[in-house]
Amino acid sequence: MPKSPWSVPVTEALHASGVRVADLDTNATPGFRGDKKAGELLLEQRRTVLSGLQEKLYANGRSGDPRSILLVLQGMDTAGKGGIVRHVIGSVDPQGVDHASFGVPTEQERRHNYLWRIRKQLPRGGQIGVFDRSHYEDVLVVRVHELVPQDVWGKRYDEINRFERTAADAGTTIIKVAMFVSLDEQRKRLTQRLDRPDKYWKFDPADIGERAHWPDYQKAYQDVLDRTCTDYAPWYVVPSDRKWYSRLAVTELLIDALEALDLDWPPAHFDIEEQRRRLAAS
Ligand code: ADP
Repeated sequence: MPKSPWSVPVTEALHASGVRVADLDTNATPGFRGDKKAGELLLEQRRTVLSGLQEKLYANGRSGDPRSILLVLQGMDTAGKGGIVRHVIGSVDPQGVDHASFGVPTEQERRHNYLWRIRKQLPRGGQIGVFDRSHYEDVLVVRVHELVPQDVWGKRYDEINRFERTAADAGTTIIKVAMFVSLDEQRKRLTQRLDRPDKYWKFDPADIGERAHWPDYQKAYQDVLDRTCTDYAPWYVVPSDRKWYSRLAVTELLIDALEALDLDWPPAHFDIEEQRRRLAAS
């Protein structure tokens, strides 16, 4: 049998338990045996597998199956969340994707509990939901910049666990991905945004200020991983200095989740022979 390109399944290689954010090697490629070329080649193949599985999920959803997948993407600026959406999620039929991104809350959103806008975007049956940022901003940026008092954000970890438990019980497989790049890699990527007119639109001057808060973000991420990595909504920590690796890793996480649903094509809800006869006579 040919050797698997993975020495360890990706769900094990990237599981957040025991991860120390401050010590993470963001340039590593955990569990993968190959180099960039092998990774890119494999990604091409696995995108096709992902697309086939997604079609089955969608087909079942159309037949009333309430199950769905939710991919939660968190990461510092330039970590590559957009690249995951474009290169990984972009390989499946857009009809089957419920995409939501969460920026600074609007005035209307601020009038509600922080989970209000999140709950509204949970994926429908048969869909792959993608959260580009999420309710975790409410214990990350909100904590680092003290946008609410500690006794308010401090309660949110348990609230988030309960919220995710409810979604999981309703049939949503939750995969949470934390993407980390080194400060050096982030500088390179931000520099590129300033060097290239086709990247100016991605540049936000505030991103430079956030770099000074990185130690606080590391602490906040550590608490997120320690307090909200559950068996029903696990965190995976993806070293993201190498874009080919982070994209391949998230593709594998999605494939793993879809395979675990053990989907089949939904059976015909009509008499096939009778429909053949009708069609022939029509
Ligand atoms: P991106 O930077 O991912 O391209 P946006 O510019 O639309 O996206 O918005 C992201 C910004 O919104 C980030 O700086 C993020 O920290 C902030 N943000 C997201 N959720 C919240 C929140 N609940 N409270 C305050 N700021 C938030």
